Amino acid sequence: SCLLKPANKSVIIQFKMMSLGGSASTSLNKTVTAKYMSIPQPKDKVRVLYVWIDGTGENVRCKNRTVDFIPKDPSQLPTWNYDGSSTYQAEGSNSDVYLHPVRIYKDPFLLGDNKIVLCDTYKYNKKPTESNNRAACLETMNKVKQLEPWFGIEQEYTLLDIDRHPFGWPKNGFPGPQGPYYCGVGVDKVYGRDIVESHYTACLYAGVQICGTNAEVMPAQWEFQVGPGAGIKAADDLWMARYLLHRVAEDYGVIVTFDPKPMEGDWNGAGAHTNFSTKTCGWLPMEGDWNGAGAHTNFSTKAMREDGGITEIEKAIDKLSRHHVRHIKAYDPKQGKDNERRLTGRHETSSIHDFSAGVANRGTSIRIPRGVAEEKKGYLEDRRPSSNCDPYSVCEVLVRTCCLEN
Ligand code: ADP
Ligand code: MN
Ligand code: MN
Ligand code: MN
Ligand code: MN
Repeated sequence: SCLLKPANKSVIIQFKMMSLGGSASTSLNKTVTAKYMSIPQPKDKVRVLYVWIDGTGENVRCKNRTVDFIPKDPSQLPTWNYDGSSTYQAEGSNSDVYLHPVRIYKDPFLLGDNKIVLCDTYKYNKKPTESNNRAACLETMNKVKQLEPWFGIEQEYTLLDIDRHPFGWPKNGFPGPQGPYYCGVGVDKVYGRDIVESHYTACLYAGVQICGTNAEVMPAQWEFQVGPGAGIKAADDLWMARYLLHRVAEDYGVIVTFDPKPMEGDWNGAGAHTNFSTKTCGWLPMEGDWNGAGAHTNFSTKAMREDGGITEIEKAIDKLSRHHVRHIKAYDPKQGKDNERRLTGRHETSSIHDFSAGVANRGTSIRIPRGVAEEKKGYLEDRRPSSNCDPYSVCEVLVRTCCLEN
C-alpha cells in the first residue's frame, strides 16, 4: 500500500481524532462572523490576549481579558493566572499558575488598540515553571549586555491537512522527489503560499521582527526568519510568530507542525519501494527521503560584527566544539531525542554525534556564511537546533558557551 509511515504513534491517534471532524471551526460561516466583528468596540475597552508556553515546552495557549486602558508596557498589564492542571503544568489540587506579561504586540486579527501579550509562567511558589526557560535566558542575557549579542532564527515548519497528511500532497501517494520545491513558484511546486503571505503580513503588523520567508526543500514545508534581535528579543518574536502562524493556519483549516521530521524517510526502506507502482500511487517518488525541519540560529556579538571579527567567530566555534552534547540537549524539547530523527548526516544536516564547522557547508553543525568569510566579520549559523526547539534555551546556551564559558 502507499500509506505513509507516521513519525510516531501520537500522530496515528491524532489522525483518528481529526478524521472525526477537526475542521469544525473552519466550516463556520465567515460572513456571519464578519457581521459581529464589525460591531464597534467601546472606546474605553481594549482586548488583550495573553499567550504562554504550556507544559510540553512546544505548544502555546491563550486566553482573553478586557482592560480599560491602552497598555504601552507589559508592566502596566495585570499578572493573571490559569489552570495549570490543564496544560501539563500543575496538579489539580494546586493548579493556579501565574502569567507574567513580558512583551506586547499589536493584535493583527482584531486591529485597533487591541493587543496580544507574550507571558512567561510561574508556579504557586513564584518559581518559574519547568517550561519557563525565558527567566533563566533573560538573566544570562543581562550578564552579557555589554557584548551586544544578536540572534536571528530561521523557523522551518510543515503544513498539514486536517487529516495530518502534508498539505497539498496527493492523498493516495507522494509528490515527485525533492528538487523543484525550494524557493519554488507554481501550483505544482509550492503548497500553501496564502498562509505564508498572510502570516508575514500579520507578523509585520504585530511588531514581530520577521525578516523573510521562503518555500523549503520538502513540498508543504516553509521557513520564516526573525531577527537579528538583541538579547531576548528574537526569541520572544519567534514565539509570537509561532502563535500567529497557528492562528492564521486555523483560519484556513490547515495544521502547522514544528515536528523536526514530519515525514520519516525510511518508509521505502528495505526495498519496499519496489512494490510501489504508478498504478497504485499515482505519483512515484524516485527516493522516499524528505528533509526535516530545523531552527538554524544565527549568532553574533559586537566584536564578531566589527572589522576582523572572524577571529572572534573562530574562537566561538572552538568553544562550541567542546560542548557539543550540552548544546544538543538544549536544542529540542526532549534533550536531543527529537533531533535524533533529524540530524542524520543526510538532508543538509550533520550527524547528531559529531561536531563540525565549515564555510558555506550545509552538512556541518556550524556554518560560516560565504559572505561572512569574505568580509571577515559578521555572524555564525548554528544549524543544529530543531524546528520545535525553545529559542530561549538555544540562545542562552550559545551565550553561556561562547561568552561566559560556563
Ligand atoms: P540561510 O538560509 O542562508 O541560512 P537566512 O537568510 O534564512 O539564511 O537567515 C539568515 C538569518 O541570519 C536571519 O534570521 C537574520 O536575521 C540573521 N542574521 C543576519 N545578520 C546577523 C547577525 N549579525 N547576527 C545574528 N543574526 C544575523
Ligand atoms: Mn473557570
Ligand atoms: Mn534560511
Ligand atoms: Mn531552511
Ligand atoms: Mn540557514
